[in-house]
Amino acid sequence: MNISEVNRSVRCDMPNCKNFAKIKVQKPGFIMVAGMYLCDECAKELYEMLGHRFVPKSPDNMLNKRIRTKKEINNEN
Ligand SMILES: [Zn+2]
Repeated sequence: MNISEVNRSVRCDMPNCKNFAKIKVQKPGFIMVAGMYLCDECAKELYEMLGHRFVPKSPDNMLNKRIRTKKEINNEN
């Protein structure tokens, strides 16, 4: 997948958005290159939502593991 700047006047592809697109996200396929146009606002929102979906799980697990380890040490002493 790749992202390119949009220099012509194209509307954002998100439903209910009337802004002009600033970037184009493309995924090359067998027959054609399919993509979507996004304005800066929708791109930012999408980025934040994807961040929530993919990032926060591992730090939580590490924290839980550390607390559990401390308790185990206390029990041993
Ligand atoms: Zn938009």
